[in-house]
Amino acid sequence: MKNILITGGAGFIGSHVVRRFVKNYQASHIFNLDALTYAGNLENIKDIENESNYTFLKGDITDAEYINEIFEKYQFDGVLHLAAESHVDRSITDPLAFVKTNVIGTMNLLNAAKTLWKNDFEGKRFYHISTDEVYGSLGSEGLFTETTPYDPNSPYSASKAASDHFVRAYGETYGLPYVITNCSNNYGPYHFPEKLIPLFINNIINNKPLPVYGDGKYTRDWLFVEDHAAAIDLVFHKGNNHDTYNIGGFNEWQNIDLVKLLCSIMDKKLGRAEGTSVQLISYVKDRPGHDLRYAIDASKINKELGWKPSVTFEEGLERTIDWFLNNQEWLDNITSGEYQSYYNNQYSTS
Ligand code: NAD
Repeated sequence: MKNILITGGAGFIGSHVVRRFVKNYQASHIFNLDALTYAGNLENIKDIENESNYTFLKGDITDAEYINEIFEKYQFDGVLHLAAESHVDRSITDPLAFVKTNVIGTMNLLNAAKTLWKNDFEGKRFYHISTDEVYGSLGSEGLFTETTPYDPNSPYSASKAASDHFVRAYGETYGLPYVITNCSNNYGPYHFPEKLIPLFINNIINNKPLPVYGDGKYTRDWLFVEDHAAAIDLVFHKGNNHDTYNIGGFNEWQNIDLVKLLCSIMDKKLGRAEGTSVQLISYVKDRPGHDLRYAIDASKINKELGWKPSVTFEEGLERTIDWFLNNQEWLDNITSGEYQSYYNNQYSTS
């Protein structure tokens, strides 16, 4: 493909995908479209900003006119759509923002692709990046597969589910060539410190309380972000048209165990006595509608495309923690200003 559009490339996962595509596909031109919301940060992709096959476009996917204009101007052959409002807690306080970006924004991209590509779909692909949260909650047993019925519980997962359905509907109704992936929780460098792992790394560094929701028994599957980017690359190039793949780390953790592990690694890294950071754990009022457990069966992508995670959780966590410790300035820039008022508001009930 000549011209590839990646949306949300100044965010956490998007920045890793943009970097990978700019480096690996020099014959393609990579356009990174991002509105630079609170979650977008050009520092995340500073190392590739001067590459000749890369262009940054500051723009909002909810602006249909602008989206149509850039599709016409740059004649994209491929789209990897990651731009989204992505934080469950924020979706509880402002659900409409999630409908606007995640549903209407996705619709604008679908319409622009449909208009540009007309019925000539040869060599074209619309790739929608989604989450395992669309499947709702599991009990203590079982795994989400690609055929698990959608059952979203939070405004975030409902908006992602709606966008997944629209992508599929454009494939069935208009023949738009699409692929969708649903991935579990990512972690790694450039992760915005409102999400569990970077939030707790930052709080441990600063000796601040570690707010654990409810009884801490919530269970998530965790995947190192570079392994997600590798899976996205593979699915974009080799995945079946009109198909869905689940992506996961085969790596389930109860929140409280994960937090204790983080505390123990951080004590060593910071030269603190073992058992120091664990004392910062503070149980806070539960998130409403909190899903008990997510777990992914990633055997389809493994069998059909040969993907599996390349790093263990221990390696990935070590690399993540080292990155945050070596990039204190990045963290400090983000956690000053607006972040402080969000944080104080979010955890004021603790
Ligand atoms: P993020 O919040 O870190 O980044 C989102 C990016 O989208 C930001 O750069 C932001 O500026 C941009 N953006 C937001 N609204 C926009 C708009 N209206 N127009 C243009 N740009 C806009 O998110 P992330 O964690 O990197 O997630 C990326 C995608 O992957 C999302 O679609 C998310 O649903 C999905 N996903 C995330 C995870 C995870 O663990 N983080 C897991 C599975 C799937």
